[in-house]
Amino acid sequence: MARKFFVGGNFKMNGTKESIKAIIKGLNEAQLDPNVEVVIAPPALYLHLAQSELKKPGVEVSAQNVFDKPNGAFTGEISVAQLKDSGINWTILGHSERRTLFGETDEVVASKTKSAIDGGLSVIWCCGESLQERESGNTVAVVERQLAALAAKLSGNDWSKIVIAYEPIWAIGTGKVATVQQAQEVHEAIRKWLRANVSDAVADQTRILYGGSVNGKNCKDLAKEKDIDGFLVGGASLKPEFIDIINSNL
Ligand code: PGA
Repeated sequence: MARKFFVGGNFKMNGTKESIKAIIKGLNEAQLDPNVEVVIAPPALYLHLAQSELKKPGVEVSAQNVFDKPNGAFTGEISVAQLKDSGINWTILGHSERRTLFGETDEVVASKTKSAIDGGLSVIWCCGESLQERESGNTVAVVERQLAALAAKLSGNDWSKIVIAYEPIWAIGTGKVATVQQAQEVHEAIRKWLRANVSDAVADQTRILYGGSVNGKNCKDLAKEKDIDGFLVGGASLKPEFIDIINSNL
């Protein structure tokens, strides 16, 4: 079965009630490729607003993070059950900003991912190397290490709830997009790793997104690559060109 193209919009810590309503109005009114699954991730405070404003079939709302304890004294955190209770079915996990700025290790990210899936969420699980790791020739080793920590926590069926986002850290928010070859090379390596270490079915069915300075201009060429199944978009998801990225294959 062909993998359905997937585009995620990660608003990060951006937006106001007004600007988020305007973005969603744009989505509601746009002609979107019906063959694309779209998920937008506003800040937690605006998840409910986004849900109530969104009228477009095929577009869902995601959290940007979740904590993996069921409840209790964890000031500032939100649980998987609370997201589910609020009608949220998706979360991003392991974004490089969480890993680098908030100290989330491979193991923490893997354990959060497992808890999210066990609690009924689907996960956009992020991985990717720093500039220094790329320049020292360690890109694939870093991504494989991140994948191995994840695979150690997941069982067979869990993989159907995962979308992988490969996001080289040096390309995030920098305007420095990976070349089509650089992205395809790592996506292929990820799929190969899944084939060798998980199963043929998981390798064939898991969507692998590219993220890092994707915009309305560079998306079309990236989308043509055989192992690129969509995008995780930061900055451009706040702009009208997000629609062009969703429609990259038209
Ligand atoms: P960017 O961010 O598109 O602004 O580079 C991507 C991301 O962090 O998911």
